[in-house]
Amino acid sequence: MIEVHLGDITRLQVDVIVNAANQHLQSGGGVDGAIHRAAGPGLLEVCREIGGCPVGEVRATPAFNLPVKRIYHTVGPVWRGGSLGEPELLASCYRQCLALARREHMRSIAFPAISCGVYDYPPEQAVDIAVAEVRQHLDGNCQLQRIVFCCLDEMLDRLYRQKLGVSEER
Ligand code: ADP
Repeated sequence: MIEVHLGDITRLQVDVIVNAANQHLQSGGGVDGAIHRAAGPGLLEVCREIGGCPVGEVRATPAFNLPVKRIYHTVGPVWRGGSLGEPELLASCYRQCLALARREHMRSIAFPAISCGVYDYPPEQAVDIAVAEVRQHLDGNCQLQRIVFCCLDEMLDRLYRQKLGVSEER
C-alpha cells in the first residue's frame, strides 16, 4: 500500500526511514538535520565510521533514538539541468533503498522527497521518478506492506496525491 503523508518524517512509525543525505554523510540541513537531531549524536558517529556514500547509493545505520528499526541514508543528485544523469541517479536512490529493504526483510518504509530541497530537483519530475520506481518494485515479488511518501510542503503532497490518485488525509 502506498501512502502520502504531510508532516515530519521523524515522527513516523515505520520500519525504515530514508534520509536524503549528502556524500560525506555529515549532518546537514533539511531532512538530514531533522533526522540527526531526532536520532541523537550516536548517528553522526556511525556515519563518520562509514565515511561517505556515492550519489545514487545507500548506506544503512541503526536508528538510535528514533522509533524505527533502520535509517537508510541515500544521496540524491544535485539538479544541474537534467543532462548529467540526474534522472537515473535519482531513480537509483529509490531502487537501492527498496532493494535493501527487501534484503533486510523490512515491512514498511518512508521516503522524503529526495533532492527536492537544496538539491533543487524539479518537483514534478522527481515525483514521477519516485512513484515509478516504487510501483515497479511493488510489481515484483515484494514483502513491503507499506510505503510512505512523506513531505513537508503542500505542493509536493499534492503532486504525490495527483500522481498516485489518492485523496487527502483527514
Ligand atoms: P536534498 O538535499 O536531497 O534536496 P533536503 O533535505 O534539502 O534534501 O530536502 C528534501 C525534501 O525533504 C524537501 O522537500 C524538504 O521540504 C523535505 N524535508 C525537510 N525536512 C523534512 C522532515 N523533517 N520530514 C520530511 N521531509 C522533510
